[in-house]
Amino acid sequence: MSFVRRTAFSLAFYLFCLSLAWTQNSILGFTPTSVARETEIEKKFKAIPSPDEEKRQHRIFTSEPHVAGSKRNNELANYIADEWRKQGLEDVIIRRYDVYGSNPKSASLEMVAPVRYQATLREAPLDADPDSKNPQISGAWSGMSISGDVTAPVVYAHSGNPEDYAVLRQHGIDVKGRIVLVRYSNPYSYRGFKALTAQREGAAAILIYSDPAEDGYKKGKVVPDGPWGPEYHIQRGAITYDFMVPGDPQTPGWPSVPGAKRIPIEQAMSAPKIMALPLSWHDAKPLLENMDGPLAPENWQGGLPIQYHVGGERVRVHLKIEMENSIQPYYVVEGRIRGSELPDEWIVMGNHRDAWVFGGVDPSSGTASMMEMTRALGKLAKEGMRPRRTLVVCSWDGEEVGLTGSTEWGEQFADELRKKAVAYLNVDSSTSGPDFHGQAVASLAPMLVETTRSLEDPSGKSLYEAWKASSIREKREAKQTIEVSDANLADTRIGSGSDHTVFLNFVGMPVIGLQFDGPYGVYHSGYDDFYWMNHFGDPGYRYHTLMSQLWGVTALRLANAELEPFDFASYADNVRQFVDELVKGKDMSELDLKAVRDGITEFAASGKRLSNSINRKLASGAVDPKLTEIINHGMMQVERNWLNPDGIPGRPWFKHILYGARFTYAHLELPGLTETVEKQDWATAKQQAEFLQRALANNATLLDRLSARLDKKNVDSLK
Ligand SMILES: [Zn+2]
Repeated sequence: MSFVRRTAFSLAFYLFCLSLAWTQNSILGFTPTSVARETEIEKKFKAIPSPDEEKRQHRIFTSEPHVAGSKRNNELANYIADEWRKQGLEDVIIRRYDVYGSNPKSASLEMVAPVRYQATLREAPLDADPDSKNPQISGAWSGMSISGDVTAPVVYAHSGNPEDYAVLRQHGIDVKGRIVLVRYSNPYSYRGFKALTAQREGAAAILIYSDPAEDGYKKGKVVPDGPWGPEYHIQRGAITYDFMVPGDPQTPGWPSVPGAKRIPIEQAMSAPKIMALPLSWHDAKPLLENMDGPLAPENWQGGLPIQYHVGGERVRVHLKIEMENSIQPYYVVEGRIRGSELPDEWIVMGNHRDAWVFGGVDPSSGTASMMEMTRALGKLAKEGMRPRRTLVVCSWDGEEVGLTGSTEWGEQFADELRKKAVAYLNVDSSTSGPDFHGQAVASLAPMLVETTRSLEDPSGKSLYEAWKASSIREKREAKQTIEVSDANLADTRIGSGSDHTVFLNFVGMPVIGLQFDGPYGVYHSGYDDFYWMNHFGDPGYRYHTLMSQLWGVTALRLANAELEPFDFASYADNVRQFVDELVKGKDMSELDLKAVRDGITEFAASGKRLSNSINRKLASGAVDPKLTEIINHGMMQVERNWLNPDGIPGRPWFKHILYGARFTYAHLELPGLTETVEKQDWATAKQQAEFLQRALANNATLLDRLSARLDKKNVDSLK
């Protein structure tokens, strides 16, 4: 072996070892040297949250009902603030918003014909579960129902979606002036959409019941013997039309700080104009079994041992609802751990505090995980391991009413967030079982997948392996043939229905949402409590603990990275899929999307170039803080550039052009473009396409500028 060849060999070997070390110990966004420090911090962090503490916190939050606006929920705001101060969080403050509140005074439902039946509208206490005997448990009510007193015939309208009313019309049944009885559909569709549909159809009121086929005995054992909903369970919930504009209905687009301008409630787009009441199947059954009219279609038949008819004449009920509507204070608790190097770059995290009753899963599992996460973060900061960027943590109020607290806070700080915020990490319910579901805006999906590799699932596998296994199982059960890969493990289709909405759709921040799921039939009922969690959801609190770890590690990576781990090539791939899905099966002869497709190709290429430049820069180990600040702020701008200041057609509050939500809360990609194409409003669709094309071009140019900046420095540093 000649000298030259030997040198070449050893150099190659050295580079090989270096690359091995790089792949084994790399973290997206970190230099090889900073990876070691980050790994050390994460190790210390992960060791702090404990199942016993998770359980202790969970018990505090689930000991009493704490609906938005209640004394107990406000006491819990003070409790969180006090705990956070003890834990070492800084700038802890309780922010007050004066919002339109609707609380129940009384509700009654009586069948007056053909036989008399007085609905109980209550959930039966269970000996096995002492909390179920708490006198503070509310009866049946729907948030934002209007008050009224009506006696009318009842029509069964299946899930209460527009196509169900079309079926009724085919049977010659008009629901005008009648009361519709619908069931919570499976898969879930937001009850507010059912209410709006009934209102548009001219119904006098809507009753929404839980059919055992969806979340009761047809699924498996019911409480207290299993996780599914028992005979008397009632799914409460708001019917606010927050898919049009979330938050306080009287302050659409601006914060409800005390003294803020308010529009009359009659003019509020998101305020329902219909009476609504949820029912257990115990109370719905007497109505259903007395109905006349045609036999309901096969797929309308439910889990009760009766034949479902559509009704319309024979069954008459007297419904009376009295609501108390007034302006009431909601409280958002905010705390932070100030960044040691970049205090004006923020990672924002949040969970809602308000629950329909005890909130065993929704949201107190998430609140317990948050309290253990903040304890661990506070402990690290006290020990000198302060994050480089600032971590802002919030306990939202009134999420259940209309995503209210987070919306008002997001509207209040929108300008500051657009300057400073890197991302928002949401945890609503943290745990109802062992199956992980991670959502992320496509640019952050790869970093989320990578993060799960460093966490251990209670099964003994890595969280990444467990996630992949449950994802494969779920796809098989849903008879989907898509192969599960790292590129599609995280769910990049983000609808509404939780507190991420204002940050993604109004402020223009990338968002991540984390949750563990399992069989769960007591959503928004009094049985969603401490007993349920300890017997079915997460006995042992291991998934609560894992959530605290995962949420914190994700935040720490975003807070400590040298160059933020955004992957814009992945974003471009997703946007291409969104367009493919939009045009699938549609006659698109009226709209040419070639320029949009070219724009995506360019954005993808620019994203790839930037990733290469970033990887070279990080591998070189030499990072100039001034330069990284420029690059990071440039990358933060990408999400803001997807905002259309005019919003999507008909919904000006929703400004994001890639992400939106259907009225059912279901995800809706390219919302403005998709909705106008569906309506065949080609002139508006063309404008939407042009806006998208410009945003793609702007972002491609922006990324190219950042690459050039990085490469110039790379070249300079070689001199
Ligand atoms: Zn929730």
